Amino acid sequence: MAQYDAIVIGLGGMGSATAYRLARRGVKVLGLEQFDIPHDRGSSHGITRIIRLAYWEHPSYVPLLRRAYELWRELENITGERLLVITGSIDAGEENCDTVKGALLSAQIHNLPHTVLDAEALHARFPGYRLPQEMMAVYQPDGGFVLCERAIVAHATAAQALGAELHAREEVLSWEATGSGVQVRTSRARYTADRLVITAGPWAGNLMPGLAWLMVPERQVLIWVQPRQPEHFRLGAFPVFNMEAPEGRFYGLPVYGIPGAKFGKYHHRGETADPDQMDREIHPEDEAVLREGIRRYFPDADGPTMAMTTCLFTNTPDEHFIIDAHAEYPQVYLAAGFSGHGFKFASVVGEIIADMVLEGGSDLDISLFLLGRFTP
Ligand SMILES: Cc1cc2nc3c(=O)[nH]c(=O)nc-3n(C[C@H](O)[C@H](O)[C@H](O)COP(=O)(O)OP(=O)(O)OC[C@H]3O[C@@H](n4cnc5c(N)ncnc54)[C@H](O)[C@@H]3O)c2cc1C
Repeated sequence: MAQYDAIVIGLGGMGSATAYRLARRGVKVLGLEQFDIPHDRGSSHGITRIIRLAYWEHPSYVPLLRRAYELWRELENITGERLLVITGSIDAGEENCDTVKGALLSAQIHNLPHTVLDAEALHARFPGYRLPQEMMAVYQPDGGFVLCERAIVAHATAAQALGAELHAREEVLSWEATGSGVQVRTSRARYTADRLVITAGPWAGNLMPGLAWLMVPERQVLIWVQPRQPEHFRLGAFPVFNMEAPEGRFYGLPVYGIPGAKFGKYHHRGETADPDQMDREIHPEDEAVLREGIRRYFPDADGPTMAMTTCLFTNTPDEHFIIDAHAEYPQVYLAAGFSGHGFKFASVVGEIIADMVLEGGSDLDISLFLLGRFTP
């Protein structure tokens, strides 16, 4: 049976970064992926993922984001590939909503450059935005997007170059703790290792059934639309955005990679899903949910459909991540439950896990992500 220092289960956004960071620190690592590297059945496909610094969700994400930006740039330099595109970011909504208040709080606490714009000033500066008068926006110049599939390929290739062994199309069927190590059984073989990292995204609950209630997969749908006014939605003219509206929370990005601007709605139609059984067809109701937001707030984008796809969130009860060691088996680590906003952090999550595996902890404050917060 082949023996490794560490096995990483799942080579999506988080697992590919983890395999790379471990390999970089001299760890003999095996990464196991059930599908291809990359693939479009998990949480990390669709070309782009928003990155933003004035994090409305909680100010304590900001130091992690600063490090994530550094590590994305470092990975670009190592691989010679563009992975991070800066467009500026907009956090919008009514003055007292969580998004605006939270973005301003993070900007103030962490001294981030930002500008507050009313709906009219926002439209004057970025004409694609046509928000109602009662809404306002926090503009932050460092926002942008990460190229998600390319980032997975970059981390995986960089990991391989450092000796990591990565296997696609090899599903992990079970794992068990054996003394201070682990044994992993897959569709092809059995392996042993000193440490195990579970970065299985929407499937994490299958590998940790006791924690499945904390990591609930949810069906999402994305749309790319050809803008009626292309100049308002091109790179450089249209910052990425998050917007809290009466209909729900919309997000979007400029035209890139597909001939259309990209729009989505958090929690889409509120459909929890089994990732192996999820409905991956696109229905008229899916498009209607997204078109409602586009028509009302971005009418100049409301042209023909260019592409649509399904994707999966993995939601925790408080929508903060889970990054922690297993309560019973300290040689087993879990990074999951990224609740629809994790990809931008993948670079730093890989580093945090490598620090936990090798040094027993991270210098970054990850107290928001520990499992203990869910214990009554
Ligand atoms: C529509 C949509 C839009 C999003 N927008 C943003 C955004 O703009 N910005 C942002 O930061 N985040 C965003 N997110 C969230 C972000 O994409 C996710 O948080 C992130 O991709 C999660 O990565 P992951 O590694 O946990 O999961 P995944 O990338 O899905 O990786 C898990 C991997 O584990 C593999 N696996 C699972 N079980 C097994 C097994 N038993 N054996 C072997 N392999 C296994 C899977 O096949 C998969 O490849 C979005 C998500 C969606 C769905």
